[in-house]
Amino acid sequence: MFDLIVIGAGAAGLSAAIEANRGGASALVLEAADAVGGSTALSGGVVLAAGTRLQRDRGVEDHPDAFYDRYMAMNRWSIEPRLARALCSDAAEAVEWLSGLGVEFHLLPVNSAEFTPRGHMAVGTGAKIIRVLELEATRLGVEIRRGCRVGSLDREAGGYRVEIASSEEVYTSRAVVIATGGFGSSREKLAKHYPSAAVHGDLTWSVAAQTCVGDGLELGGACGAGLTGHDQGLALITPGFEQNFDVVPPAWLVFVNREGQRYVDEMMPYSMLTETTHQQSGGSGFAVLDETTRAQAAPTDPTHQGVVSLDWNRDSIAAQSEKGRVFRAGSLRGLARQAGIDAESLEETLSRYNADCDAGADSCFHKDPAWMRPIVEPPFYAAEIRPCLVALTCCGLRIDADARVLSRKGEAIPGLFAAGETTGGVLRQYGGSGNSIANALVFGRRSGRAASALARGRA
Ligand SMILES: Cc1cc2nc3c(=O)[nH]c(=O)nc-3n(C[C@H](O)[C@H](O)[C@H](O)COP(=O)(O)OP(=O)(O)OC[C@H]3O[C@@H](n4cnc5c(N)ncnc54)[C@H](O)[C@@H]3O)c2cc1C
Repeated sequence: MFDLIVIGAGAAGLSAAIEANRGGASALVLEAADAVGGSTALSGGVVLAAGTRLQRDRGVEDHPDAFYDRYMAMNRWSIEPRLARALCSDAAEAVEWLSGLGVEFHLLPVNSAEFTPRGHMAVGTGAKIIRVLELEATRLGVEIRRGCRVGSLDREAGGYRVEIASSEEVYTSRAVVIATGGFGSSREKLAKHYPSAAVHGDLTWSVAAQTCVGDGLELGGACGAGLTGHDQGLALITPGFEQNFDVVPPAWLVFVNREGQRYVDEMMPYSMLTETTHQQSGGSGFAVLDETTRAQAAPTDPTHQGVVSLDWNRDSIAAQSEKGRVFRAGSLRGLARQAGIDAESLEETLSRYNADCDAGADSCFHKDPAWMRPIVEPPFYAAEIRPCLVALTCCGLRIDADARVLSRKGEAIPGLFAAGETTGGVLRQYGGSGNSIANALVFGRRSGRAASALARGRA
């Protein structure tokens, strides 16, 4: 019998196993895929944290309390304060810990909705974070079994019985950490737990690892775990041309709704664009541009706010208009008719936008005029944009600040822990990029420490 079995070897699971080992517990990690890493390994590797050495070196004054206040306000106090407090308090320590293991970080100047520089970007992205965690776990002698998808989890006297889905293999342990990541790669679970993203049908897709299908929800559920965070997640807006992971749409696009009105500063933080677009009639909007702007949209155009746009470049827009995903017309009225937008209103909206471009000031949304391009040169283009590119799922197992899994009644289930994207209550879409890896590291480490203390009879 192991002291601890960790299910899933992403940032949360590997952190848990390392801390449990350091606490003197024997730990076995079971990973469904043939390689460790999950979504963490695919990620940009940005970790939100306040009060780090790197911030101090860069002259940034910051503190976990300020991070907490901002994080709660951004998430409209709709997450669990105790969990948010733990996240904000421990994130800096997690960054220092990774630095000590060999991850070098750059401090991003501003990070989406985060106006104090808190985004610590790993050189070598999330893959580097995973590499150092895997190396450390291996160095400590933690056993990691790959290609072992856990199919069932049962409580039994003195601990847990863990069964591998595709074989007869059974393992037992005193404690278990569920760290199976999110459920973005399961259409069924998206429909059930994140319906506002799933509503776009075949156009909905996820950047998560293929093995992130939400097994943790069932494994925890079989032991009586409660869920929290229904219909929460981060689904980015996309024109759905191809399955391209464009996080930030080019600032020169103009977004209108079916009523033909602009509804937002197109440079709003991307996580906010999701909700604002979802709130428009039909749950989507349209991105409009003219021929001059299309012709200038090179794939590496600096006007993409420094981001290479795979969707919004001249060749892609032209190709998609041939396929019918982009409407194209010689007049704005014709464009509006094709797209189902109120034509008169669209003409008025764009006439005002063009006048604002000339005046150098956005009279509606105060968008930075440096990014405004008039819409005057036919043909005109419009593509429907929908919030259906799932980057993160936030519905998951209920936990407390020690990462103990809570039952539907809110009681801790003995010996059962969970960490990372498989949990709920810590993340919502407004947190700013970097909250999810921070969440995986902080609660992964907390779960490993608590589980080892429990298994070794110290708690
Ligand atoms: C492209 C991309 C970019 C991102 N960029 C960022 C970013 O810069 N900053 C940020 O904070 N967040 C980012 N995210 C989100 C973030 O990476 C994840 O939410 C976070 O890393 C999840 O960590 P985790 O350990 O909980 O899960 P994962 O890293 O997904 O690990 C879960 C592991 O569990 C395994 N598993 C699943 N089911 C089973 C089972 N039944 N048995 C055994 N193993 C199982 C999976 O194979 C996987 O290896 C990004 C995500 C993606 C996909």
